[in-house]
Amino acid sequence: MKILSKPSELREFIEQKGIKREEIGFVPTMGYLHEGHLSLVRKCRHENSFCVVSIFVNPLQFGPNEDLAAYPRDLDRDKALLEKEGVDLLFVPTEQDMYHPDFSTSVKETRLSRYMCGAFRLGHFDGVCTVVLKLFNIVQPKRAYFGEKDYQQLQVLRRMVRDLNVPVEVVGCPIVRDHDGLALSSRNVYLTKEQRQEALRIPKALEEAERLFKEGERRASVLEAKMREVLSAGKGLKVQYIEIRDADNLEEVEEIKGRVVVALAVYVGKARLIDNKILEG
Ligand code: AMP
Repeated sequence: MKILSKPSELREFIEQKGIKREEIGFVPTMGYLHEGHLSLVRKCRHENSFCVVSIFVNPLQFGPNEDLAAYPRDLDRDKALLEKEGVDLLFVPTEQDMYHPDFSTSVKETRLSRYMCGAFRLGHFDGVCTVVLKLFNIVQPKRAYFGEKDYQQLQVLRRMVRDLNVPVEVVGCPIVRDHDGLALSSRNVYLTKEQRQEALRIPKALEEAERLFKEGERRASVLEAKMREVLSAGKGLKVQYIEIRDADNLEEVEEIKGRVVVALAVYVGKARLIDNKILEG
């Protein structure tokens, strides 16, 4: 596995090897890898002959009071995992490699980004769109792989690629969960044993919503109330939002008809966890 940190070195390497855009699959990450990330890598490897992974904790997508400094990192472990998966190229730029000291351009998606996480993490999706477009321009992949775990991010990026004619196919990949149902996340490392147990109410709440839906309940407000009930019984859980929205355009839904995403963000102690489930009538 080739490891590079400078955008110019990466372009040189790919051009010297004569690797074409059509061959390149790409998985952007912030590292501290788990099976969720690795599921993206495996799909990417399977569908492309040249697989690029990036690890970059992007300061632009963290708010001033968020966990940028504390974000878990273990590059040696990540390298070993990616090597084992047969990744061809690992891109690990520093902040200086990515952002010029007087960097002054950004990408802003103005509709889908207003809701859900975007309403609480101001500027977050501008940071995501900007870094992903930069990474796309550096790596120039044919396909890029993102997890449905970050469902809103996936939809915002699909929109960016559509609106700006970015020649990259955005591929969504299913959420990978731990054996007990908790969605894998690098941030799960923040949880104590007790908090992790309480956090199981998150997938439980989503399962409850799905159960009611399967029984025929179509009122979003009823599903939301049920989820809130499951979560509020938990010790140290603080619900930031529970929302049921159209799965494509993320518009609010009262009566569930087509495909919707049931999404939530919950603080478990200081860890902010997100999860979601798609329901389809
Ligand atoms: P992150 O390192 O958190 O920025 O995540 C990098 C990519 O991995 C994003 O596209 C995430 O949506 C995806 N991802 C993270 N956790 C999971 C998971 N549990 N299942 C599937 N994909 C995931």
